Amino acid sequence: MTRDLDHLFDQNVVWAQQKTRDDPDYFRRMAEQQTPRYLWIGCSDSRVTANDVLRLDPGEVFVHRNIANVVHTSDLNILSVLEFAVDHLQVRHVIVCGHYACGGIQRVLANARGAMFDHWLQPVAMLYRKHRAMFDSIADEAKRVDRMCEINVEMQVRRVAATPIIENAWARGQTLHVHGWLYGVHDGLLRDLGPTLSSIAERDALPSIDERVLAPGEPVSAVRRHALEAFGCCDEAGGKDAPEG
Ligand SMILES: [Zn+2]
Repeated sequence: MTRDLDHLFDQNVVWAQQKTRDDPDYFRRMAEQQTPRYLWIGCSDSRVTANDVLRLDPGEVFVHRNIANVVHTSDLNILSVLEFAVDHLQVRHVIVCGHYACGGIQRVLANARGAMFDHWLQPVAMLYRKHRAMFDSIADEAKRVDRMCEINVEMQVRRVAATPIIENAWARGQTLHVHGWLYGVHDGLLRDLGPTLSSIAERDALPSIDERVLAPGEPVSAVRRHALEAFGCCDEAGGKDAPEG
């Protein structure tokens, strides 16, 4: 057995002991059942861990992650996770959460080719090529990447909401909301891209992804929302949430 990972096992013991000290019933409860209310579909990026940014304990969020939080509608992995979360765990919320400065999105905008994960990113690359003139008109490279990160989340929200798993849940009257969020690795804040989808009718009423490329939404964090509510208007009191690059 290799010894260079001993520190991880040592840290694990410290963590388990700490948890038990804080809450003697913790692992007994964990062993009984998981009842998460949320499914998180996020990026594999090591900086964006669902439990940490949501400040949730183990057991509270069901997670699927892949490079650039792409929803491939023929991906057995994501579809199985989605079905288990919606049909079995009965989660109330499906959250597609991308993040700014995403390496996968940077790769798409750099027109990189040849690797398996370029193939994985193909739906994003196709959208970029289709609207290349618009994206390339954003002179600042970081802003261009961040805009693509946002539009990617909007596209994946549409894709997940188009699966029969979500459609069937809505059709049988199950309470289920689909969200599109962005996480800022530069400030730790989550932003809601809106709108939240709670029915087939709401999904069908969405503008097309091509329209959204041309007329982008404005993501809002809780910090900004609270500031806007405090000032009672839509000025810049809370500062813009989209990163300035
Ligand atoms: Zn990423």
